[in-house]
Amino acid sequence: MSAHVRADRDVCIGAGNCVMTLGSVFDQDDDGVVVVLQPHPDGVDPELLQRAVVMCPAGAITVTTT
Ligand code: SF4
Repeated sequence: MSAHVRADRDVCIGAGNCVMTLGSVFDQDDDGVVVVLQPHPDGVDPELLQRAVVMCPAGAITVTTT
């Protein structure tokens, strides 16, 4: 099973929770808007990915698994 991570930069409010939860997958640009470092984070704990989704106050993060 592989995960695909997407973040909607238009709705991101720069809270940074995703970066605090999973800094290997998420970063923020100079304006604080989310940047996905690893769209296909193989080997990353799925529970942490799910936590990043839940912790985002803007609902900007989507994780799909195939
Ligand atoms: S937690 Fe959500 S709102 Fe905060 S930086 Fe990450 S994507 Fe943006």
